[in-house]
Amino acid sequence: MLAAIEAGGTKFVCAVGDENGNIVERTQIPTTVPEETMGKVIEFFRNFSVDAIGIGSFGPIDINQESPTYGFITSTPKIGWKDYPFVQAMKDAFAVPVGFNTDVNAAALGEASLGAAKGLDSCLYITVGTGIGAGAFVQGQLLQGLSHPEMGHTLVRRHPDDPYQGRCPYHHDCLEGLAAGPAIEERWGVKGVELAARAEVWDLEGYYLAQAIMQYILILSPKKIILGGGVSHQEQVFTSIYKYLPELLQGYVSLPELSSYIVRPGLGDEAGITGALILAQRSLKSK
Ligand code: ADP
Ligand code: ZN
Repeated sequence: MLAAIEAGGTKFVCAVGDENGNIVERTQIPTTVPEETMGKVIEFFRNFSVDAIGIGSFGPIDINQESPTYGFITSTPKIGWKDYPFVQAMKDAFAVPVGFNTDVNAAALGEASLGAAKGLDSCLYITVGTGIGAGAFVQGQLLQGLSHPEMGHTLVRRHPDDPYQGRCPYHHDCLEGLAAGPAIEERWGVKGVELAARAEVWDLEGYYLAQAIMQYILILSPKKIILGGGVSHQEQVFTSIYKYLPELLQGYVSLPELSSYIVRPGLGDEAGITGALILAQRSLKSK
């Protein structure tokens, strides 16, 4: 039995199942402080005989196995979670192998194994939600260097008619600062879901996302790009990206038909938790 955790800023999704994405049981636990949230996580998994645990976590996290702080959530502003030893807490409770990666890397792994990029040895999974992040599966491996990439904070050119200052606490008008859900809400004054009929909102959203996607394509050359997260529920975001990306690339890179190259998650909202199950299985294998 494999255990999986998709650890998000608002909730933790916990599931037990197998590496084929079959889930036997699941639960959702609100993200409060570690003592409370992790207490409930551990209590849930105690009901099962767990062989390995896979975690896809919000970040930044330390995924460098050589590092003394491997398995920690590092510099989050979330109360109580800064410098939290996530992997150690699970190992202390269960004494089984633990796979640990970012939420978006887990989703990329899920999509590459069983979703929209099934059978491919590379893909990029981008989430546009409360934040923007991307996970990359490259030559059959999750991309990792010093630690994990932080593609959501890529710089983009401002639209000349966009006066919005951006809201990233670190960079103001990076991609996340200009185009994540909270930026849309602050710029236009209402939540994204209520802006469905405002074409200019989604045109601008695609204007920024296309620029970042261009950089990702130029640097990583992914075989498939998967766009998930709440904001991507707006179909018009895809339409706008399909419009701006060719204008930006100017034919320099030859791409497949965009509607089959930049796609929704094949696993829907299950990409992250499925990827976490596969992380669990991989940790068991590498043991
Ligand atoms: P999280 O990133 O916290 O895991 P989501 O991916 O659902 O969660 O992203 C939440 C953000 O996406 C919020 O800013 C919300 O306003 C926005 N959002 C959610 N659903 C939609 C929608 N259908 N259309 C536009 N924006 C949405
Ligand atoms: Zn930023």
